[in-house]
Amino acid sequence: MSDSRPEGQLEEMSGITSPDNQIVSNEQAERMPAVVNLKPRHALPFFKRHPWVFAGAIRTVRGNPQAGDTVALYSHEGEFIAHGLFNPNSQIRVRLYSWNEQIPIDREFWKARIQSAIQLRSTLFGVSSDVTAYRLINSEADGLSGLTVDRYDRWLSVQFTSFAIAQRQSQIIELLCELAQPAGIVLRTEKGTLDAEGLEIADGLLFGEPPPRPLVVVEHGLKWEVDLTEGHKTGGYLDQRDNHRALAQYVKGQRVLDVFSYTGGFGIGALVWGGASEVLAIDSSEAALALAQRNAELNGVSDRWRSEKGDAFKALENLRDSGELFDTIALDPPKLTRTRAALPQAMRAYHSLNRLAVSVLKPGGLLATCCCSGLVSHEDFEQMLADVAIQSGRDIRIVDVRGAGPDHPVSPFCPENDYLKYYLCHVA
Ligand code: SAH
Repeated sequence: MSDSRPEGQLEEMSGITSPDNQIVSNEQAERMPAVVNLKPRHALPFFKRHPWVFAGAIRTVRGNPQAGDTVALYSHEGEFIAHGLFNPNSQIRVRLYSWNEQIPIDREFWKARIQSAIQLRSTLFGVSSDVTAYRLINSEADGLSGLTVDRYDRWLSVQFTSFAIAQRQSQIIELLCELAQPAGIVLRTEKGTLDAEGLEIADGLLFGEPPPRPLVVVEHGLKWEVDLTEGHKTGGYLDQRDNHRALAQYVKGQRVLDVFSYTGGFGIGALVWGGASEVLAIDSSEAALALAQRNAELNGVSDRWRSEKGDAFKALENLRDSGELFDTIALDPPKLTRTRAALPQAMRAYHSLNRLAVSVLKPGGLLATCCCSGLVSHEDFEQMLADVAIQSGRDIRIVDVRGAGPDHPVSPFCPENDYLKYYLCHVA
């Protein structure tokens, strides 16, 4: 049913209109959730369960929802699509959660979603597994857009990237306590949420005992010290766990360079699992390198571990100029772009990093090159590798392509969630 009358006129007459534009009384309106109607021809992605409704797709918002309120999303024709949460201060104006009109977003709803996320991880890791740190809730992929929860041994580290989810903090923490029974829960904030969501929150302990600093977790039998209070992201980079092991199988007796090493995942894995002869780790963070050093000691490989604090570009140039060569290189830079506008600049940075890495790699060596910018597609990344091959005069063959581990599932409805790329390349 299309609405041919000007909006102001409808509101003057009734206070609110129902989704299909029938005039309802003010009393009825109070019981109805606020309603968001899409522009004509904008509904398909949301019927196909994409959870992000950007401001540009919206035609009208009725019922005066405030930031964090529940809204019902309707097509231009007045057909129900989904229940979502509203945020007038975000480009993602509505995040969608429930596509069943009969299932509202309430405590029972959150409980079912959190339970399902936990059930998947117990399938993956069991109860007596040798992995004690993993992603318990992966935002969109677990149907919980804006909520990330990592488990580190008996502690949970929580990140809110949506205002509306943060507003429901007490309910979510209560459910996490009930369903996961942690010793403590810490809140870690993500850079940029104030700009993106109007969300101002600070790191801190939300429940229970503070985690020990550092806390020791186990990753496929390797011991890792992590710092949940000041470490990056929620404390560590759990997404690369299985890639650390995948690379280790090829490095026996080799000299390995671990660029952007953080706490040493690729390098220490190469030494312990892979039997590499030595590792040089490069990172600009002194705190990360100090943790990496302790992790090398904890796993009994510090005699073969060397690290250098510095900018990766500069350090790679210095290695190239001094003629040093490595058999295997892991190259795992931080996210280089958060916006589409900065994509070309980010691709130039990936290009120069990979070009530099290839220049210190022996002929026939392996380059494990990673990208955690969701905006960079596989095609973009492969094109960059092709350009590096041509410009460096080296033959590059891709021998393995991987993503994040299985505790970071990907939603087929939200491909943006599939951010991590790991390419293992043979470089002749
Ligand atoms: N490889 C790690 C994760 C790397 S995260 C793992 O598998 O766990 C990215 C790392 O890059 C961070 O430790 C950060 O300190 C470092 N970093 C960021 N900018 C840098 C720069 N310009 N030079 C060197 N290191 C940098």
